[in-house]
Order: sequence, then structure tokens, then C-alpha cells
Amino acid sequence: SIVKHVRASLHDLKPYIPGKPIADVQRELGLDDVIKLASNENPVGPSPKAQAAIQAALTDLHRYPDGGQVVLKSELAKHLGVSEDMFLIGNGSDEVISFLCATFVEPGEEIVVPSPSFSEYKFASTVMAGKTVEVPLREGFEYNLDDFAEAITEHTRIVFLCSPNNPTGTYIRHSDLEKFLEKIPSDILVVIDEAYNEYVEAPDYAQGLEFLKQGYNVAVMRTFSKLYALASLRVGYTIAKSEIVSFVNRVREPFNVNHLAQVAAIAALHDEEHIALSRRVNSEGKQALYKGFSSLGLRYIPTETNFILVDTGVNSKELFQSLLKKGVIIRDGGFFGLPTWIRVSIGLPEENERFLAALKESVSELS
Ligand code: PMP
Repeated sequence: SIVKHVRASLHDLKPYIPGKPIADVQRELGLDDVIKLASNENPVGPSPKAQAAIQAALTDLHRYPDGGQVVLKSELAKHLGVSEDMFLIGNGSDEVISFLCATFVEPGEEIVVPSPSFSEYKFASTVMAGKTVEVPLREGFEYNLDDFAEAITEHTRIVFLCSPNNPTGTYIRHSDLEKFLEKIPSDILVVIDEAYNEYVEAPDYAQGLEFLKQGYNVAVMRTFSKLYALASLRVGYTIAKSEIVSFVNRVREPFNVNHLAQVAAIAALHDEEHIALSRRVNSEGKQALYKGFSSLGLRYIPTETNFILVDTGVNSKELFQSLLKKGVIIRDGGFFGLPTWIRVSIGLPEENERFLAALKESVSELS
């Protein structure tokens, strides 16, 4: 059969299961009023300036997009204080992760990743027939970078660090990253996935960009899907030494980021009002959820992101279903090997209240 010609590394590969879209749940359950707190989206909605930029760009739909993403790179370069040739833009940072593995991972070579963490690192490495070495986070899902240094072998090609980490919300401290980068071999690429960077409030957070500017082999990853509220348009990027970018660019398709996405990203980058509002809604929502969890007696992990990991003490798969019936979509921790935990994205005030009320009911029904 033709199946025997499918590459060996793909046989055991499990495709990513995304959070359920609101429309699917509405259809399946016949519910009108469904809220989704499952995919770490920005509940404020898209920037009005980004929407206007898309409207204005609609007359150009017959043209190919700017394949070099020249304006977007130039705006990002000014915004972040690095040169334009240090940017590689992807169709979401998901695509950038695949590009990085396609660039560095030969069959049988290794990547090192935290556990639990974002599943796409392993996925992208497996597609390239690479191996994934998982390093468990410590008590409270805290990073201990000595554990990562020990996991590095002569076969390691990339160390993926996710900070703040999905699904835990924990982060790497500046002094710890400095010690780690000093200690490990200098020919290993350390990719720091900073998808949630713009939400961070902790003063001792390690900004990957500072280390890149100092000359370490660091590639920082960022996205427009979270604080910048453009998840649907798919724009993510990496910032790395231009030499590395020039190689990663070889695996990129010429028009991987569409024109509407590029113009919207530029507008969102400069919409200070929308950025400030999004940060405030998240910060206040975080405190409201902390309070709610505490009053229910549930342990949560303090977060630097727009989501919170919480131990509900009941079976998370059953809890997921129970909340779903009440029109609330969250992420089942079982997906991350945490069968009593759930990950909930911080929503608008009324969404957080509705979630907490549903959680209270469902947990008492199930315990
Ligand atoms: N990295 C992390 C840590 C994430 O949580 C996500 C989104 N869930 C991504 C990358 C992918 O983001 P994008 O929408 O840019 O592909």
C-alpha cells in the first residue's frame, strides 16, 4: 500500500488539537451564548486601527503580498531597536517553529523542550525526524535551567524555552538565563518563545532580546496573536542574528504572510490605546480570577500571561464537558498531562464572572 511510503517519522505523529471554535459548540449544543476562554486570545477584540488598515487594503487583493515583508520588518526594527535583517516573519509563530526545526534539525538530532509546554516544538521536530528531549519543570512549574543544561548532548540542535511558559504562566528570570547562556556550548541555538512577552509584569523577567543584543545565540519568538489581538490573521516572527535568519529564510515560502495580515500587524503595533486597554483588562481580570480561585479553595499558578493554570481537584476531562454544557470553553489540563488541572484564558470581566460561577457549580457537581 502507498502508506508504506509515508515517512517513518509521521506514523506516530499526533496532529495538534486546537481549542473548540465558538460556532462549533453553539451548533453541537444548540446554545446561543457561548464564551471561549480556551486559546489565550485577546478578549478585547481586534484594534480598530488594524481593522481600518485592512479595509483600506482590500483594493489590493489582486496583487501578491510583499514577499520580503519590508515595511513590517522596518517598523518592527524601529520598535525593538534591532536591524531589519534580524527578522523572519511567519504565518503565525507556529510556522516559525517549523522553519527553525527545518533549518537545524537533521534526522535523529535532538531538541530540548520544557514539560509541560507548547506542543508545537515536538511536532515540528518530529516532522523533521528529530528527537525531543523533555525537561520537566520543577515544583510550582518553575524553571530550573540547570536541568536544561544537563539535558544538552552532542546531538542537541535547539533548546526551546517558552517564557512565560504555556500552559503554566511561569517565566525565566534574568539572572538564571544569563548563567545558563554562559554555561552551555556556544554553538547551540536557544530559542526563547515569548508569545506572551507583552503581558509580562514581573520586573526580573529575562528579556530574550537583551541577550541577543549582547551576542548570545538566542532567537526570540514573538507573535501578533496575543496582546496584539490578530490570532486569525497569523503573524508571528523570530528575531535572531542575521546569519541565522538568512538560513531560516531559505525554507520559507515566498508569500507566506498575506497582505491584509501585514498591514493589520503594522497598525496594531502602533495602536497604543488598544495595547494599554488590552493590558489593563488582562491585569484586572487576572486579579479577579485569582480572587475567585482563592474563594473556591483552588490552587492556581501565578501567571505572567493572559491565562491561568488551576488545579480543580476533579477530573479535568469531565469538568471540561460540564463547563461546555454551560457554554464555557476552557482547556483541559489532560492535554498537558495534568488530569485535574485546567487552563483558562483571562476574559472580559463578565466572562470571568460567568466562568467562575460555572466552575463553582461544576466542581461541586463532580466532587
Ligand atoms: N507559542 C506559544 C507559547 C503559544 O502559546 C502559541 C499560541 N497558542 C504560539 C506559539 C503560536 O502562536 P501563533 O498564533 O503566532 O502561531
